[in-house]
Amino acid sequence: MLKLPGLIDPHVHLREPGATHKEDWDSGTCAALAGGFTMVLAMPNTEPPIFDAETLDIALGAAHQKARCDYAQYLGAGPHNAGIVPALAHKAAGLKMYLDSTFGELRLDDMTLWKPHFENYPREYPIVVHAESRSMAAAMFFSAMYDRPVHIAHISLREEVLLIKAAKERGIKVTCEVCPHHLFLTSPFHEREGSGVRAESTSPIGRGVRGEGRLEVRPRLATQKDVDALWENLDVIDCFATDHAPHTIEEKDSANPPPGFPGLETALPLLLTAIDHRLLTLDDLIQKMYTNPRRVFNLPEQSETWIEVDESTEYEIKAENQFTRCGWTPFEGWKVKGKIRRVVLRGKTAFEDGKILVEKGYGRNVRS
Ligand SMILES: [Zn+2]
Repeated sequence: MLKLPGLIDPHVHLREPGATHKEDWDSGTCAALAGGFTMVLAMPNTEPPIFDAETLDIALGAAHQKARCDYAQYLGAGPHNAGIVPALAHKAAGLKMYLDSTFGELRLDDMTLWKPHFENYPREYPIVVHAESRSMAAAMFFSAMYDRPVHIAHISLREEVLLIKAAKERGIKVTCEVCPHHLFLTSPFHEREGSGVRAESTSPIGRGVRGEGRLEVRPRLATQKDVDALWENLDVIDCFATDHAPHTIEEKDSANPPPGFPGLETALPLLLTAIDHRLLTLDDLIQKMYTNPRRVFNLPEQSETWIEVDESTEYEIKAENQFTRCGWTPFEGWKVKGKIRRVVLRGKTAFEDGKILVEKGYGRNVRS
């Protein structure tokens, strides 16, 4: 039995408030524990979005009632809240800025709206950006201009990892995360242009994804060249994050499929299997799922907290065995090696052999 620290996922969407038919603080934190995560940081693009004292209270109220693992809640940066979020920073996971496209209160249409957030948000708390390709370069320019750290969410492209590498070498205070789906899946749309052949999985350990709506995710699945660049530059990548973003199977298979994959329950088994295939080391995994998230996001230690993994058990990933409410996984049928047997959170067994053993509300806000 392998014993690891309780894992930290700095990027999850738990859908509450607003879309609890997809997930809520209960089902989402059950999924976290079942996946070996004892702490999750929840994103603010809920309905309503979390962007001021009142909406932060709504999210934290639901979390306080329902969460089974420890957590913190992000604030979203909007065009009009740069003056109020600094005073809430000590209660929040960090500030999330959507620099490409989003909607409603979190929309930042021009770069002058980024400025007061970079100027005013307290430096000891993270700014996390959704910024793809050239927007990512712009975010690093703001980091350099204001000499403050910035964390780039879910990088997926070769150009992104190589630019972050160069920026780190020049002393820019940038960190980044990669999601398992960007390490294990490529887009069939890219393949189709060249070969006309629909891609299977890029990984030696699984099969392809079926159904085009189920391939929708932002950032999009990339090319084999991009996936290879991420694996080749693992040392540049600070954290693994799931970007757990559940939508129901009916929504994914509809004419207008929303982007996003569930990921909390598949991340660790996929990465353990990659270790078995010598694609990374156990030390890499601990660095990127525990040590670095704690450092980058300035998170407290969880005492008497660990997970136990049976390294040799092989099994097939099946949505029907998951706690997430969404009812599907892009990794359905993948064979993985490494099963999470037990999760101990603050001295209590929270998960053991497929069962959640702590009550709703056991989870604590790590920023309170
Ligand atoms: Zn996300």
